[in-house]
Amino acid sequence: MNQKHTSINSVGEFGLIERIRKICASVPLPPEIGEKIVLGIDDDTAVVRPSEHLLQLVTSDIMVEGVHFDLTYTSMEHLGWKLLVVNLSDIAAMGGIPLHAVITVALPAKISVEMVEAMYGGIAKAAETYRCAIVGGDTNTSLGNMTVAATVTGEVSESWLKLRSGAQPGDRICVSGDLGLSHAGLKILLREKERYLSSPGKDEFKPNLTPYTVAVTKHLAPRARFDVAQKIAGREWVHAMIDISDGLASDLRHICVRSRTGAHLDIDKLRIPEQVGTIAAELGEEPMDFVLYGGEEYELLFTVHPDAVGDIEQVAPEVSVIGTVTADAGKIELVRNNEPVKILTGGGYDHFRK
Ligand SMILES: [Mg+2]
Repeated sequence: MNQKHTSINSVGEFGLIERIRKICASVPLPPEIGEKIVLGIDDDTAVVRPSEHLLQLVTSDIMVEGVHFDLTYTSMEHLGWKLLVVNLSDIAAMGGIPLHAVITVALPAKISVEMVEAMYGGIAKAAETYRCAIVGGDTNTSLGNMTVAATVTGEVSESWLKLRSGAQPGDRICVSGDLGLSHAGLKILLREKERYLSSPGKDEFKPNLTPYTVAVTKHLAPRARFDVAQKIAGREWVHAMIDISDGLASDLRHICVRSRTGAHLDIDKLRIPEQVGTIAAELGEEPMDFVLYGGEEYELLFTVHPDAVGDIEQVAPEVSVIGTVTADAGKIELVRNNEPVKILTGGGYDHFRK
């Protein structure tokens, strides 16, 4: 915890921007990104040189205190990291690589200079990890909650571009890692926050997070799956791709709607991660609900030609095959041994009558 509290008023907007500029300029850039930046945080706008023969990607995400994050349990480093990663994940899901980011923040008076620097430290760490340049943005005051937003550009060659609309009946549905952990981690953070608020000695309060580190880390510091995306996006047998921000059921629906298909999810192929099992049991909830509906996973969900199942196992062994695309447009079913178990609807699922 940063104890020093320099008010933003005392350094002024330009003093704050200068500090932010130093943090952003400290991110080492690979030459292929650096050489495309004509001007970074130096003028009215950033000036970049677009690539020839490549498609440009642009994406933006906003995070509002009280809606998307809670400063009771979110460190400024984690907030900065996650802000950039949720945008980068969209670039990964298109098959692209990131180039430039602009960061916009609205800061209430409780936020100190040190806190802003810590947040940009998290942003810079994500920018370095995923090789992206921070070239500008805006800083402003907020009379209400803290709000942070990022816009990220990237590029992709036309043959690597993977859209939601490319799924075909018969395709196998794949996912890049474990699901449900982020939502389980959030549930634990909310439970510990409640314990903190109702504890008489707030200074002595110690949250009990140690048994849940995998889940809590996935929620606070998710990864963008370029490691998987860059191995598969160049393959013509990958037909459609999306990142899981809203939850497996919801994001699979996005693919089905855009591709005019349906889907079967094989309930026996949906792994329940150990900590999802533990946390769901402690909370008296159904672990499969975390896997199906938990958001903010930032794993990749994609469909491949049925003949490519062997290829995907070879190219990306961390991927699991969890279902099949069907011709039954808009209908997403949970199946076991090809027999329907449940129909997944928008916000939940209906049990089949026995
Ligand atoms: Mg997305």
